[in-house]
Amino acid sequence: MLTIALSKGRILDDTLPLLAEAGIVPTENPDKSRKLIIPTSQPDVRLLIVRATDVPTYVEHGAADLGVAGKDVLMEYGGQGLYEPLDLQIAQCKLMTAGAIGVAEPKGRLRVATKFVNVAKRYYAEQGRQVDIIKLYGSMELAPLIGLADKIIDVVDTGNTLRANGLEPQDFIAAISSRLVVNKASMKMQHARIQALIDTLRKAVESRHRG
Ligand code: AMP
Repeated sequence: MLTIALSKGRILDDTLPLLAEAGIVPTENPDKSRKLIIPTSQPDVRLLIVRATDVPTYVEHGAADLGVAGKDVLMEYGGQGLYEPLDLQIAQCKLMTAGAIGVAEPKGRLRVATKFVNVAKRYYAEQGRQVDIIKLYGSMELAPLIGLADKIIDVVDTGNTLRANGLEPQDFIAAISSRLVVNKASMKMQHARIQALIDTLRKAVESRHRG
């Protein structure tokens, strides 16, 4: 049995066409279904529907053999517990700092609100900057508006959400896209099967970007 962990929304919508090219089609629409374990057209392949931030946990612990997770989630998760053999080149965006338009940085310690606490710590440590990091779970754009923080670190696509809230993207931290991740033991135990799937997905990604 191959178990693939996915999260609903952007990643699921963009991953299903790639899986379909590998002959893996869910037996019901995961976006509509309340089921968390969804069988597929291949009797020995099933999908596990989990929170985006939980995908690396399921895969590292072997509860799923494979998964699809954003690079932002993987950077925040950290560690060496997973293989990351393929950039699926979907759900592309950028991890950026952002702040209020036209507002200068404070002279003292910078306060940064983000859900990417580990990424933020690493980023400012590399710059030798002392910052206070404030963990939030969502609506990060609110923090500078309301005086909770000077800046945020968030994923940005068009920047429209930032601009709608009087913020602007500032410093680029990393290019983000979704990655295929594989459990290390599964990669050994089911090597031929998983390698064949990786190869098929790689061809699907490449042909998409050629055409
Ligand atoms: P934007 O196009 O910059 O206004 O982005 C719209 C919202 O979607 C923002 O709240 C972003 O944080 C979020 N977002 C954009 N791209 C991605 C992505 N690839 N993965 C996850 N969240 C994203």
